[in-house]
Amino acid sequence: MFAINHAAAALLVKRRYPDVSLALILIAVQAMEVLWVVLNYVGIERTTTEPVVRYVGDIHLAYMPFSHSVATMLGTAALGWAIGALAGRPRLGAAVGLGVASHLLLDVVTHDRDIALAPLLDGPEYGTRLYSRLPLAAFLLELGFGVLCWRVYRGGRALLAVIAGFNLGNLSLFFAAVPGPEQWLSGRPILLTTIILARRSL
Ligand SMILES: [Zn+2]
Repeated sequence: MFAINHAAAALLVKRRYPDVSLALILIAVQAMEVLWVVLNYVGIERTTTEPVVRYVGDIHLAYMPFSHSVATMLGTAALGWAIGALAGRPRLGAAVGLGVASHLLLDVVTHDRDIALAPLLDGPEYGTRLYSRLPLAAFLLELGFGVLCWRVYRGGRALLAVIAGFNLGNLSLFFAAVPGPEQWLSGRPILLTTIILARRSL
């Protein structure tokens, strides 16, 4: 899922755990993506593109078994949970664990089959392929999920404008026929990771 809607998931966790800092939950929901950026920079994980990038389906998260596998994501979630519990802050641990786990769920629901079961394991990879097969449905799902999170959180109008605005800003990425800045990404996967990093720090 796109950065804005991973961030929106943090609102759901915050609603359930109002005593836990939203900043910490935001870090938890994005933690695996930040790791993905770092591992792409150092060349351990790999992203490729089609010769022409028209939409999100032309970008391939070719190898990312450390930042995005079921085992590493659930393991990180469990670790966060356990550290919180051992430190006498079980609610904080639960919020962090849920935040990390939400990233796995939201990516499996939208990604190509690029999420391995565990690193270094030759096995099936998971993902519904919604982005490449049904990009309109993926766009509506992302926007709808972001708005749903806002509603559950009972956020204000400014927050709704941010969530809707970022989703609409991604529009050209969901429709091959709509030109957008993604055309500059062809053959430049590291540019993509840089843009994603920048969006995460917004
Ligand atoms: Zn991700």
